[in-house]
Amino acid sequence: MSDYIEKAINILKENDFRITTPRKLVIKLLDKSKEALSAYEIKDKLDSQGKDVDIVSIYRIIDCLEKNKLVHRVLSNSKVMKCQIGHEDECHKHQEYHCHHLLICQKCGTIEEIHCAGIAPVIKKVEHESSFKIKTHNLEFYGVCKSCL
Ligand SMILES: [Zn+2]
Ligand SMILES: [Zn+2]
Ligand SMILES: [Zn+2]
Repeated sequence: MSDYIEKAINILKENDFRITTPRKLVIKLLDKSKEALSAYEIKDKLDSQGKDVDIVSIYRIIDCLEKNKLVHRVLSNSKVMKCQIGHEDECHKHQEYHCHHLLICQKCGTIEEIHCAGIAPVIKKVEHESSFKIKTHNLEFYGVCKSCL
């Protein structure tokens, strides 16, 4: 079992979610995928493995994983990807929301996650200048990954 699968199962258990077969199948798929996946792409992949999980269940599973901070949603297409950095990570622990930032390769679609480092002062500055209380933010960087350069 990969670290992500193990972690996801533990976190779901801790939060009183049952580890159902469909939940486990979706977690396994997300673990293997280097690209973000839509609910329908998840459905297609499960279909091709001969696993029949209906689309409504897949949407619910994605919601559940998102609430448990196990996946990130890509803003431009609403697809989801696993959280790679992890809950034991310091910058993750101290956040009420799920804040890791994404590096998205425009050539191959690979997504990498990076820490929140350096963003806090920017947020403070924006709050100061706008008198707006910021609760959350999203940040995605688009470009070309190492293997596509
Ligand atoms: Zn993350
Ligand atoms: Zn690439
Ligand atoms: Zn952030």
